[in-house]
Amino acid sequence: MINALRGMKDLLDNDGKLYKFIVETCEEVAKNYRYEFCETPKMEETGLFKRSVGESSDIVGKEMYQFTDKGGNDVCLRPEGTAGVVRAFIEAKFDKAGGVKKYFYSGSMFRYERPQRGRLREFHQFGVECFGESSVYEDASVILMLSEILNKFNIKTTLKINSLGDSECMPLYRQKLVKFLESKDGLCEDCQRRIKTNPIRVLDCKNDHCQMLLKDAPLITDNLNQICSSEFEKLKEILAQNGVKFEVDARLVRGLDYYCKTAFEFVSDEIGSKSAVAGGGRYDRLVEFLGGKATPGVGWAMGIERIMEILKQKELPNFRDGIYICALDNAYVNDIYKIAFELRKEHKVEVSYEAKSPNKHLNLADKKNAKIFLCIGEDEAKNSQIWYKNLDTKEEKRINISNLKGEL
Ligand code: ATP
Ligand code: MG
Repeated sequence: MINALRGMKDLLDNDGKLYKFIVETCEEVAKNYRYEFCETPKMEETGLFKRSVGESSDIVGKEMYQFTDKGGNDVCLRPEGTAGVVRAFIEAKFDKAGGVKKYFYSGSMFRYERPQRGRLREFHQFGVECFGESSVYEDASVILMLSEILNKFNIKTTLKINSLGDSECMPLYRQKLVKFLESKDGLCEDCQRRIKTNPIRVLDCKNDHCQMLLKDAPLITDNLNQICSSEFEKLKEILAQNGVKFEVDARLVRGLDYYCKTAFEFVSDEIGSKSAVAGGGRYDRLVEFLGGKATPGVGWAMGIERIMEILKQKELPNFRDGIYICALDNAYVNDIYKIAFELRKEHKVEVSYEAKSPNKHLNLADKKNAKIFLCIGEDEAKNSQIWYKNLDTKEEKRINISNLKGEL
């Protein structure tokens, strides 16, 4: 028997429905913010991720599905979505054209990690990216959008925000931090390496001992220049005015190298301790870094499986919809089949090809999550009627078949 690979999962039945429900809800909200659909390939040149996500990140350093294809190209299954969308944006020359572009996407991401609850090797993200807008109002908008989505799922989260500074104050802060880090003994091996490659990522270390040594580390929020600090204040003001609660977390740096100014994360206690369900921020230097014309960017990505894990612990959303149509005698199967053909032009219809008892049919309709039950038996056939039952409200009636379309 051949099974799915470790850390990779099928989306069938309720999982599939839940997945679709999540993506569709996200899309609905994103469209209200005037974001548009986009899709980019699931495989890209390895160099794209090395450059954008950064060689010092765990993603590039440890987690990529990287291989040489039959043509000898160094390629990689995408570990995250932003790099591909940025590449596409530049390739379409939208950077040169100027203006604002706003996209949403969803799909598989691949990371070679140790599989566990809410952590897979193929997982799915929903994400948004906005190019060409430097206003901090957009930073706030993408956060409001995400908060709106999580509210729709009824998921309790904590929003953490930070500012990482810009190309002026970030390097100065980094020097200060390196000086501090070099004065500390006993940082873990990863952190020793990060001091050289990307010191602010030390702040993010999960090791308790490192976190203890970092207690008095200089904070980026105390080292922002005038622009960054006033924008950060503005962001906090907009969030507060729109009723979005947040915590400032000066240690929040995010795993990826390309962020500047706003960084944020929504964490939830509902799957293990303080697990991130979504994160994002501003990446004003990334387009230029990947060879395009300097264009500001801001966006986020949400882990769909983590949302699924949380929703599964709650009462699942009601997926009842569509029609189940059946007959009590095989003599009427042709009739219901014909009716179904007509109804299917507008409705989701499941046809039962075989006569059964009313109870058996009702059970099946229920199992198939139908909302409307339609059935023809001898009495109905005599009067050119159909038995209608709404499986949500339990309302029942007989409808003349000639009026059926209108009644539905
Ligand atoms: P973590 O710290 O949990 O590893 P991350 O910082 O690597 O998260 P991001 O790169 O910011 O995560 O990805 C955005 C979101 O994608 C995360 O908040 C999470 O919900 C989800 N995610 C990341 N890695 C995985 C994975 N291996 N399996 C399932 N979901 C994931
Ligand atoms: Mg990770």
